[in-house]
This record gives sequence, C-alpha cells and structure tokens, in this order.
Amino acid sequence: MTQPVTIRDVQVITTQPSGQRLVIVKLITSEPGLYGLGCATFTQRFHAVVAALEGHLKPFVLGRDVSRIEEIWQMAMVNGYWRNGPVLNNAISGIDQALWDIKGKMAGMPVYDLLGGKCREAAAVYTHADGREPQEVEDNVRKFMAEGYRYIRIQMGGYGGRGAALAKPDGAPDGAYFDPRGYMRNMLRMMAHVRGAVGEEVELLHDIHERLSPIDAVQFAKDVEQFRLFFLEDSLAPEDIAWFRMMRAQCATPLAMGELFNSPHEWLPLITDRLIDFIRMHVSQMGGITPARHVAATANMFGVRTAWHGPGDTSPVGHAANLHLDLWAPNFGIQEWCRFNELVYEMFPGLPVVRNGYMYPNDKPGLGIDIDEKLAAKYPCQDWVEGWTQTRLPDGGPARP
Ligand code: MG
Repeated sequence: MTQPVTIRDVQVITTQPSGQRLVIVKLITSEPGLYGLGCATFTQRFHAVVAALEGHLKPFVLGRDVSRIEEIWQMAMVNGYWRNGPVLNNAISGIDQALWDIKGKMAGMPVYDLLGGKCREAAAVYTHADGREPQEVEDNVRKFMAEGYRYIRIQMGGYGGRGAALAKPDGAPDGAYFDPRGYMRNMLRMMAHVRGAVGEEVELLHDIHERLSPIDAVQFAKDVEQFRLFFLEDSLAPEDIAWFRMMRAQCATPLAMGELFNSPHEWLPLITDRLIDFIRMHVSQMGGITPARHVAATANMFGVRTAWHGPGDTSPVGHAANLHLDLWAPNFGIQEWCRFNELVYEMFPGLPVVRNGYMYPNDKPGLGIDIDEKLAAKYPCQDWVEGWTQTRLPDGGPARP
C-alpha cells in the first residue's frame, strides 16, 4: 500500500486588500508542491480565528491523511467538545476548504466535479444597488442592468435606511442610529418607485438585515408582496426565527435566511418545515464545503434553494468555494456577488470572473484559485472597533445589526 499524503503544515495568511480583513488557510502536504487554500474569514474577530487555527486546529490535523475530508471535519467539530460558533466554524472551514482544494488537485478535477459534476455552466449572481433617494437607487439599478445583471438587490441609505429624520434624547451616545418604522415607510416608497420605473423583467431583492421587530417584519413582508421580489432577506434575527411560521402563513413573499447561522439547530427546522425559500449561510461560518454540501442536499429534498452569502468579507477563496457549490447543486438559486477590485484579482489569481450577470469557473483542478503571498503581505490587517454593528434605536437603546 502506498503511503498516504499527509498534512505537513498549517499556515495562516491574513491580509486586507480592500477594506475587509481576510483570513486564508494554506495547508502544506507531504507531497512536494501540493497545497490547498481555504477561507477562514471572520473579519470582525479575525485574531480569534488565527489563534484557534494556530493553537488548536494545527496540532489536531498535523500528520493526518488529506484524503479523509469528512472524517477530519466530523472529528474537528467535536474535538474541543463544545462545537459550533463563528470562531471555531471559520477555523474548521479554512482546513476543510483547503482539503477539498487538495483532493481536486490530486484527482485532476475541479471541486464541482468531486461534488457530482456541473448542473450549469455558470452561476447567476446578484449585486447591490443603493442610493440616498429612490431616483438614485433606480439610476444604480439601470447601471447594473446595462452591465448584464438580471438580479439586483435594492437598498436605500444602507442597512436600516439611515437618513430618516431622528429625534434623539439629549445626551444620547454615538452609534449607528436608525428608525425601524421610518425605514419601513421609506423602503416601500423606494420599491414602488423602482419597480414602477424598471418594470417586471429585472429581479429585485431586498435585505432587512434583521432590523425590524418581528411583527413589523411580518407586516413588511406582506406589504412588499405586491413588488414580486426574488427574495426578502434576513427579515428576522436568528433569535426570532419562530416568527417565520406567521410570516409564511400571511404572504407569498419569497424568504431568504441564514448568513448569521452557526448551528444545524438554526437551519434544519426552517428547511424541513418549508418556512423559507432560500438558505443562504456564509459557507465558512458554518464550517466549509463539507457541511454546505449536506445542507444543500437536505434543502433540495424540501424544495429550498441555495443562495450562499457572498459579501466582501467572504475571501476570494470563499467565493471560489461558493461557485463550485453553485455549479453542482441541483437546487442552486442565486449567488450574491460583491464585485472585487483589480487589486484583489491580482492578489488572488483564479478569482472567478463575472460576465453578463453570470459567474464562471476556470475549470482548473481543485478550487482553481491561488494567492500571491508577497502582495498579500503588503496589505496587513488593521485593527479597529467595529462601528456599524453598534446600532441604536431612535431613543439610543441598543438594536441588532
Ligand atoms: Mg445579507
């Protein structure tokens, strides 16, 4: 029997080429020149992920057979006894995605072929249009339509619709203020304008970003039904998912949920009870390609489509992983896309390209993406305390971001 290829080293690369702090795992194997890359990006708490990888997961995986992805994932998830949580899941994802990359390179196949092969040639993507006023949102929607996008998320004033007039009490602290009821009124006005202006052919999406109280979210989902959204995203906070049943009973607005989820206890009931239409976890946040494959297959049996989270704080390696899942999954719905700049493309050779609203793979073995470590080192991660998540209601009281 030939000797198995084993994990020789776990290197953690951090970089910040475009605002978001990225964490990439590079798994070095016993085979000269053979390595894999994985996304472990939890941008708001990247130091903690680096520590989990270097202090805990590296000693756990060193010397293991790279072919045993499923077993390594299962054991890594319970090796600390307490499981799940964004730090651990992201750290495991870095290892997991790198192992899929390595397996593809060893097999001479792209990861989508390892998963079962392509169901489609490219993944339809949606991108984000924003604006201060409805007309500006419409202008941005038209700009993206001219570039070939057929799915466009529409927001106004960012999450929470900042810009609404606020009456704060004297002495109220600084923060990212928003007015939930003003947000509802403004968004309905904006959606009526945009849908009326651009017609029915383009698919429109909207992300509440869990900023409404549950009953207001139910009302909002009913109010936007007339605009025929492709989906309404994160209408409820993860703590309030029991309200999906009421929302579902009252309207046919397609519902998408999942980017904040860490644990199967969160997504499983939403899928098996058919309470949502799109499951959209952040793939590194749930632990990598291995759990995403299980989720996609489960969702497929219940008529729920995938829409993996695809913001700028998913690293390019993570976007490549998303794309392989998208190409394979029979129940693929849509892929979120953040439009990386030229520097990011230079730093991550093989980063998927989007043309005419579709994201295309390069068909290379593994994930098909690499990193220029010298260039990455020129953009070290900066430290700051997050401001946008310090959200407050008009009276200054804390709110969920
Ligand atoms: Mg979102």
